[in-house]
Amino acid sequence: MGEIRSVGIIGAGQMGAGIAQVCAAAGYDVLLHDVSADRIESGLGVIRDTLAKTVARGQIDQAAADGTIAKVKAAPELQSIGQCDLAIEAATEDEVVKKAIFKALQPHLKAETILASNTSSISITRMASTTDRPERFIGLHFMNPVPRMKLVEIIRGIATAPATYEQAVQFARSLGKTTANAEDFPAFIVNRILAPMINEAIYTLYEGVGTVDSIDTAMKLGANHPMGPLELGDFIGLDTVLAIMNVLYDGLADSKYRPCPLLTKYVEAGWLGRKVGRGFYDYRGPTPIPTR
Ligand code: NAD
Repeated sequence: MGEIRSVGIIGAGQMGAGIAQVCAAAGYDVLLHDVSADRIESGLGVIRDTLAKTVARGQIDQAAADGTIAKVKAAPELQSIGQCDLAIEAATEDEVVKKAIFKALQPHLKAETILASNTSSISITRMASTTDRPERFIGLHFMNPVPRMKLVEIIRGIATAPATYEQAVQFARSLGKTTANAEDFPAFIVNRILAPMINEAIYTLYEGVGTVDSIDTAMKLGANHPMGPLELGDFIGLDTVLAIMNVLYDGLADSKYRPCPLLTKYVEAGWLGRKVGRGFYDYRGPTPIPTR
């Protein structure tokens, strides 16, 4: 199995941009793809802003920031990703979207390319089975924000080869990350635990037990969480939280995972959280204001 030198990333949103940045900083050649040139440019803009802040904090010098951004190239055509040694899918949390990406990519893939998905919850085995290389398909679940969070959860599908798993672990370590192995069951480890907590916080709001402010304050000061659960839901993206809850609900057939109707309502309103400027808080002013 070949060495990984180049990494193609599909989806230039919050996660794709972060993954591109850490790969480039570790010396990989990175191609970044999304549905439009604008989306790719906005992902590159996020990387530039994050690097500028890191320089301002004195954590890296300007030359290192310049070197990192120079290693990330826009890839407007999906097919160019096929020439990378590793392709990481980081598009919207929707199985139909993800499978369509792997299908479109397949004719352009080098024989050795490893396919990975950054999915938060969707079955790696099921996605892998729709490709020509289930033995070289793996879940590489980065955490948000990628440059700061130390964990990569690694998920093997039923057919993932041991060599692919080893390469994925080595790759994550080469980015300075720590890995945790999770079996391929709905939402794996992190989101099996985290998403129901956020959903429960939304039920707590929905049932009037607390306000946005009291729920987040209670969990920050009462459970020593760095962010309140509603703030965290906004940070992850409420569309992603809802998608994860639906995967848990459908995949485990247990009513305890039913998504809160208030979560569904926020997603239907397009109030998806921080990435669109409004969710359980309104981020459009100088300080976030609760929306309920
Ligand atoms: P996001 O909404 O910020 O970005 C998703 C990007 O995917 C968008 O730019 C969108 O244009 C792009 N996209 C959609 N369809 C596409 C296609 N067919 N081809 C190419 N690009 C396409 O979402 P995100 O938060 O970056 O999440 C991306 C993935 O990472 C999801 O699977 C999510 O579950 C996972 N994830 C998210 C978090 C989090 O905290 N947000 C953490 C870990 C993993």
